[in-house]
Amino acid sequence: MATLQQMGLTQRQLDSHWMAYTGNRQFKRDPRIITHAQGNYYFDADGRKIFDGLSGLWTCGLGHGRQEIVDAISKQASQLDYSPAFQFGHPGSFKLAEKITEFMPEGLNRIFFTGSGSESADTSLKIARAYWRKKGQAGKTKLIGRGKGYHGVNYGGLAVGGIAPNRALFGSSVDVGHLRHTMLPENQYCKGQPQSGAELANDLLDQIAIHDASTIAAVIVEPMSGSAGVIPPPVGYLQRLREICDQHDILLIFDEVICAFGRLGYKTGAEALGVTPDMLNMAKQLTNGVVPMGAVACKQEIYDLFMEQGGPDYMLEIPHGYTYSAHPIACAAGLASLDLLSQENSFERVREMAPVLEHAAHQLGSLELVNDVRNMGLAVGLSIAHAPNEPGLRPYQIAQAMWQQGFYVRYGGDTIQIAPPFTVTKEEIDSLFNALGDTIQNLTQQA
Ligand code: PLP
Repeated sequence: MATLQQMGLTQRQLDSHWMAYTGNRQFKRDPRIITHAQGNYYFDADGRKIFDGLSGLWTCGLGHGRQEIVDAISKQASQLDYSPAFQFGHPGSFKLAEKITEFMPEGLNRIFFTGSGSESADTSLKIARAYWRKKGQAGKTKLIGRGKGYHGVNYGGLAVGGIAPNRALFGSSVDVGHLRHTMLPENQYCKGQPQSGAELANDLLDQIAIHDASTIAAVIVEPMSGSAGVIPPPVGYLQRLREICDQHDILLIFDEVICAFGRLGYKTGAEALGVTPDMLNMAKQLTNGVVPMGAVACKQEIYDLFMEQGGPDYMLEIPHGYTYSAHPIACAAGLASLDLLSQENSFERVREMAPVLEHAAHQLGSLELVNDVRNMGLAVGLSIAHAPNEPGLRPYQIAQAMWQQGFYVRYGGDTIQIAPPFTVTKEEIDSLFNALGDTIQNLTQQA
């Protein structure tokens, strides 16, 4: 392990950073410092080359160090580094908005920019509530998420989120007035979408019966749950959700922070799964992770209502937005990334490599500690059996051991998550899963 000196860090510097979503105490005893990245690989302070098995954080499908993106942001920074997001515009944001609409399902052609996936979640939830108020139905305020759903960490996204440990520390008032419906099926060793389970969507009818549709503004779901450990929806499930929402005048929001721009082999999860939501949240792959940025795509009729009901035209139609909404450098990164996705036929490449990943992943299904294998597009989730009284310990141990062997995979809850760059090769997939299989088997022997 490199010393702090070799890392170019002092102890005081290491101590000063309260790291996000990190076991700070463990990390600071054994820091994993990434110094640079190129293509599908990270390089650490020890000079080791590490395969990026999660595309950063589901962000960098195009791989790292893409010169086209570097050039675009550097040009933008020297030309216009920042422009006020409120009451002014710059060409990049309009160009990017229009470019994004080319990737969205038909009709979702109005784009609101945010700075992250969490901001996109809160933005879409606020637009939903404001939409019904503008329509004269101010009682429609409840927001419904799903068990194990993840919509980021801001107040709204947390309120509809369904991963209990993310909420536990913050008290029950976080979710007052908001609801959750049934989670998706697991433990089926299913390749792609489970064939059965569409009826789980009917659970929404129970919520409607209890609370009445006149109190419900929107339902928010990830088309494929990513952070909960890659949980694809059963065939027909999203279609049924759409039907119920239509019948009861409830907006349907897809949180596609992970799915949008290729992870499932299509422009969006909506396209991959054949269901069009009323709003679609994105972030991550939008800029290939190079500059923070998110956005919400809205159906035009939602936008139009705000314009029609906006009062005098010098007034704000919605008092919402961020200092960094449509940041010029993020827009430049977004334009360059979306161009690259098209030029490199990235979505076709994902569809080509998805069966290779599926095959490699399901080879591990017979291992004693593996409780489930799920996959869709270029994403895999493995559920790992709990160590006695220590939930989450084994996935952590597996991810640590993989890092030591030169592979980055993510652990979360009882799962290991893998989502390689779209540029991944068969050899890279095979070597990652060989190492993963050996690592899990070693752990079985220690158990
Ligand atoms: N929504 C979904 C579906 C996500 O997967 C994530 C992050 O993984 C978020 C929201 C939060 O995004 P961010 O971390 O950029 O705020």
